[in-house]
Amino acid sequence: MIRWRSKFFHTLLIFSAISLSCLSLYAAMYCSVCKRQITGSYIKSGDKVFCSQSCLDKTLPRCAICGKVCNGGFQKNGKFYCSKPCLEKTLPKCALCGKPFSSGMLFSNNGKDGPVYCAECAAKPKCFACTLPNDCEKLSDGRYICRNCKASAVFNEEQALQIFNDVRKRLYEELGYSTQHNIEFYATDAKNLEAKSKNYSPGQELGLYVCNFTINTVTKTKVGWNLKAEEKTEEYKSNEKFSVYVLYGLPRKKLIEVCGHELAHDWMQENFPKTQDIKLKEGWAEYIATRINDLYEQSEMNKRMEENKDPVYGDGYRMVKDFVKQNGVKNIGQLFRQHEGE
Ligand SMILES: [Zn+2]
Ligand SMILES: [Zn+2]
Ligand SMILES: [Zn+2]
Ligand SMILES: [Zn+2]
Ligand SMILES: [Zn+2]
Repeated sequence: MIRWRSKFFHTLLIFSAISLSCLSLYAAMYCSVCKRQITGSYIKSGDKVFCSQSCLDKTLPRCAICGKVCNGGFQKNGKFYCSKPCLEKTLPKCALCGKPFSSGMLFSNNGKDGPVYCAECAAKPKCFACTLPNDCEKLSDGRYICRNCKASAVFNEEQALQIFNDVRKRLYEELGYSTQHNIEFYATDAKNLEAKSKNYSPGQELGLYVCNFTINTVTKTKVGWNLKAEEKTEEYKSNEKFSVYVLYGLPRKKLIEVCGHELAHDWMQENFPKTQDIKLKEGWAEYIATRINDLYEQSEMNKRMEENKDPVYGDGYRMVKDFVKQNGVKNIGQLFRQHEGE
């Protein structure tokens, strides 16, 4: 943006026809706008003359906001603005304090069309749930939560469990994914979740699915038809224990989504336990989370998965989504079998 001054500022002179009357003897003057012959006082600007202010105004640029004639003012991207208030209407407004700002577009959430913040607001603590800067409250485990997210946050473990059970029921009844596992459910703090999780990356994991079991081996000796003894070793699992951990204080909608995600891990554990590919595992869990969001009429939450640039969560989600689009979700087993042992 440049501050623009009319060249007319410097050259604008009001002449009196009387003082120049001797010149008018030689040549009649005509207004360069209305073409009328000038008789009384006139205005000279550059090498042009105007009969009146209103004729001169017709040659000046107009404010792109209010339409007033710009006798000086500001120029930005080829457009003219009569005043600072008009210019400010073109500037981005801080998503938090609402003030327009011309420098310091420091923060945006999801790349291109995320909210923008002035430098001062961008420096505020970021809410763990929505990841945006705000006037946050600090939770006992050090996380920050904004007022918007806190309004629907679930702090009570019993309440969180009810939501978990409801998501599990709908996942089975409306989408057809279920297991008979006896899942232990915990609403926990960030430190405990981090300790339980092997590949913790802050901001990503709001919940966790854990399956613990003991692998036993038995060696059986079998005497075959040729009277030779054959030894055969078999593995089997025992003491299987299934747990889901979610952070306490998750906004209700987010908690529903996280429950969907973790229950998808449980379904995979039952149906495709050999799957090692973390991209497929997280991709499928994110895909199920979007289906749960749709069921609970909170599909706007799926924008995060759609735009997630993470090579595991984002790319994995898109891989599963593309497969489902081409082959139908009923054939998802093909995708898991393709990736088995990878
Ligand atoms: Zn005129
Ligand atoms: Zn204006
Ligand atoms: Zn601000
Ligand atoms: Zn928030
Ligand atoms: Zn996961």
